[in-house]
Amino acid sequence: MLAIGPHPGDLELFAGGTLRLLSQNGSAVTLAVLSRGEQATNRANIGEIRAREAEQAATILRAELVQLDLPDGGIRPGPELERALDELWARTRPELVLAFDPKGPTPLAQNPDHLALGAAVLARARSSVWRGERIYFYAARQPNVLVDITEVLQEKLNAVKAHRSQLLGPDWAVDSFGRFVSRLYSGRVPALYTEAFYRLV
Ligand SMILES: [Zn+2]
Repeated sequence: MLAIGPHPGDLELFAGGTLRLLSQNGSAVTLAVLSRGEQATNRANIGEIRAREAEQAATILRAELVQLDLPDGGIRPGPELERALDELWARTRPELVLAFDPKGPTPLAQNPDHLALGAAVLARARSSVWRGERIYFYAARQPNVLVDITEVLQEKLNAVKAHRSQLLGPDWAVDSFGRFVSRLYSGRVPALYTEAFYRLV
């Protein structure tokens, strides 16, 4: 499984439960983070701090972390992004690929870097540069796959909280936000936590 996120923390929030379920069931999961999230604050060494946090989150999710250095806020369609994706592809030879929904993700996730990643992955899938893989988009507005992550909700929340430098509230508030995001598609079923994906067909 190759899971690609533009910034540290994206994958944890939208797909962390699914990634942990896959890895604990024996899949080799690679978490590829395209940028270091250095625009998040003007602390001098924020890129380093966030890369370290991403490492901790990957450990919680039992995934390998590949940290790339594309410009935070400047990820756009083009050769640099395509080269990065093809290198990740060659390195992991994935059976499944996870990326941001290109069509207009949930309002929680509107960001040009997110859209650029989704569009580039979609183009690769459509052009059959990537063959044989299955593509799933996270933060999808109209998902066609729901994953029950109830049993690993705590690990997901811990992975989200590994991104300490980005947390604006106390732990309980972050937990509550993570639960909220993981209930968006759970309907009225109590105590069911899910992650929603659009599987490319
Ligand atoms: Zn992001």
